[in-house]
Amino acid sequence: MKKTATQLAKYRAKRDFTKTKEPSGARQVLPAPQLRFVVQKHAASHLHWDLRLEMNGVFKSWAVTKGPSIDPADKRLAVEVEDHPLDYGDFEGTIPHGEYGGGTVQMWDRGFWIPQTKQDPEDSLAAGELKFVTAGKRMRGSWVLVKIRNNRGRDTRTNWLLIKHKDEYAQPGGTPALMEEDKSVASGRTMDQIARGVGKAPRPFMLKKAESAAAVWRSNRAESAVTRGSRPASAGRRSAPARSSRRATR
Ligand code: MN
Repeated sequence: MKKTATQLAKYRAKRDFTKTKEPSGARQVLPAPQLRFVVQKHAASHLHWDLRLEMNGVFKSWAVTKGPSIDPADKRLAVEVEDHPLDYGDFEGTIPHGEYGGGTVQMWDRGFWIPQTKQDPEDSLAAGELKFVTAGKRMRGSWVLVKIRNNRGRDTRTNWLLIKHKDEYAQPGGTPALMEEDKSVASGRTMDQIARGVGKAPRPFMLKKAESAAAVWRSNRAESAVTRGSRPASAGRRSAPARSSRRATR
């Protein structure tokens, strides 16, 4: 618990929880048979898509400026942002104007992911490259995150590229249509409906019992990708103690 508090210090320092409805990370999420991921479309000062991968008790997070592309030729800038609490994976709503990240947040995608690496995925991130497979509604199949060099030290951000691998889910030229999809996978609401506070409440993902991951992988036809790479991480591996000393110094 203390470890997670350290991991989330940056996240908490940026937010005033008396003003925003974003979760503080105090809620215990339910265990899942696989690692979870979410993508939140976020109409902040600049529209972006936040990719979050569950890893050692938090969501490692990237702001993908133009959103994920299913065209392998179309590399997408993914700016590393602070770790987010796992209960953030159920957040959909509007962050008040003037607060950090002010703007509407929509649950654009969610599902399970598997690192395509034999080492701890945090070590892959530290080495600057993480290959992984997703079984979501909109992000499916094999991907890679590759760290790129900062802009001659002038850029204080840590930048990555998110690239779709060529596989059965890749679709050259298919990204514009995908980006136009504007229905929440959690509530069915459009950005406009969320902003106006109307429509259905989002169905929980992190705070409810997860469905069988095996069924999810099958329904997404991702099994071939899964069996080609590493086997699904066991629950034991996911909850293994994290090495967080490196992160604490960031
Ligand atoms: Mn964001």
